[in-house]
Amino acid sequence: MQAPPAVHAAAGGCRTRPGELGPPQPPLPLPVSERAHGAGRARSGAHRRARRRPDDEAGRGAASGGHGAHPRVSRRTLGNGCRGRAPAGTRRAALGVIRERRQDLEITVVGSGTVLPELERRQSCVVVETASETLVFDLGSGAVRGMLRAGIDPFSVDRIFFTHFHPDHTVDVVPLLFAIKYAAREPRDRKLVISGPEPFHRFWAALTNVWGEWMVGDYPMPTVQLPLACRVPVETPDCQIFWAKTEHRPESIGYRLEAAGKTFVYTGDTAYGESVVALARNADTLLIECGAPAGGEVPGHLTPEGVARIASESGARRVVITHFPAFLQTDLAAEVRAAGYEGEILTAEDGTKFSP
Ligand SMILES: [Zn+2]
Repeated sequence: MQAPPAVHAAAGGCRTRPGELGPPQPPLPLPVSERAHGAGRARSGAHRRARRRPDDEAGRGAASGGHGAHPRVSRRTLGNGCRGRAPAGTRRAALGVIRERRQDLEITVVGSGTVLPELERRQSCVVVETASETLVFDLGSGAVRGMLRAGIDPFSVDRIFFTHFHPDHTVDVVPLLFAIKYAAREPRDRKLVISGPEPFHRFWAALTNVWGEWMVGDYPMPTVQLPLACRVPVETPDCQIFWAKTEHRPESIGYRLEAAGKTFVYTGDTAYGESVVALARNADTLLIECGAPAGGEVPGHLTPEGVARIASESGARRVVITHFPAFLQTDLAAEVRAAGYEGEILTAEDGTKFSP
């Protein structure tokens, strides 16, 4: 549809290749953890238990066991075989983190990489778990498997938000919806809301024109086209979501979540821009891209200096740096610090978790 920017070409290109899609596979007899469907989030646990099939008992407990400590998550694929929603409490119990029903947000950087293929970094994807929902921001290549790596059940997703349409932020929506349609042991009946910036409806129509037969299921899947300027926030049961224009693609936006007095901002891809500063104003945590090297310049992306400038001007309390290629091989946190930002600085890996 539209040519990728120079940065993507420079980092290895975005070549498309004719893909082959085999026939839909029947549901697989994968083990399902009893605990993965047990008590937890109040919203839908009861009806899900009521619908569980007898054969779910077979693999009970398969997804439990020893796991890595928070926030470095285990390599075990906790979500493998979980059908429907795996309540947050049980997921965390499996991770060795026992918590009651959460009031705040838990954020997981599922993919911290870029267009450059890397073994240890998947492409852009951020999961925000609220008290009753799982929200996903961007779905680059590897995101679905990355959720499993991070102990997040891909079938638990309630809302998807895209920052822009580049493949490294969108392509895994296809395998995600394909899996929900054909690999879910329990047919999905709850809503999945998919939102993206204007002209999202055109993008979505093109995507479903190619893959729709295998993507669109029998459950409600409304699509929401967000105008470039946010006049009214998206209201979810647990948070308000604002957005603003970013400096990357004509449609690019970043998101701001506010819940329980805390604010989390995710820039998506961007260069410096006043609207990005405004979006991040006084954020508790700013997840911010850093796709350009210090002292360099990559159109549509931030250098460490740019990260420091946005973070300082916005008054963000903490920054988490993401979307940087391995070839930078530098201490990004030190470079952002040297550029003048005085708040807390973290550098994301795939699986990094935090609360705002
Ligand atoms: Zn991009």
